[in-house]
Amino acid sequence: MKLPFEGQCACGEIRYRATAQPGFSWICHCRDCQRASGSANCSIMYVPRDAMKIQGTARYYTVSAESGNQVSRGFCATCGSPMFILADLVPDLHGVWASSLDEPAQFNPVVQVWCASGQPWGTLHPELNRIAKAPNPEEFAEILAASASSQTSAQSG
Ligand SMILES: [Zn+2]
Ligand SMILES: [Zn+2]
Repeated sequence: MKLPFEGQCACGEIRYRATAQPGFSWICHCRDCQRASGSANCSIMYVPRDAMKIQGTARYYTVSAESGNQVSRGFCATCGSPMFILADLVPDLHGVWASSLDEPAQFNPVVQVWCASGQPWGTLHPELNRIAKAPNPEEFAEILAASASSQTSAQSG
């Protein structure tokens, strides 16, 4: 992605600026993401926490995700836009909803997860690798490696 990248909620009360590439980006089709997003999936970038500058205050709601991990979802208390995800699984990363980007076409997911709960009315990405549920540790290591190499090719090309 082009650095820095920025985005905001629907009303503009919450804005952010990220100065580092996401550690990874994915599309998640789990039931929790479906409920929280009001749609069939959520598209998330996980950015190093110290590279995120946030203006405005998100409200957080914590749930036990389908994976069993604790997940806190940040949203704008004024307009309700989902904005952020803080997940136990990746304590050094700050999840950001791709739909909040000022330039959403920059979002570059490397995998889609929880495809087993993908909905017939919500299309799975035709080309991205599919993982049925949460990635196991080996799959997660592959996701991180694929993310690192996709950034290198995006920057050089
Ligand atoms: Zn807002
Ligand atoms: Zn999910």
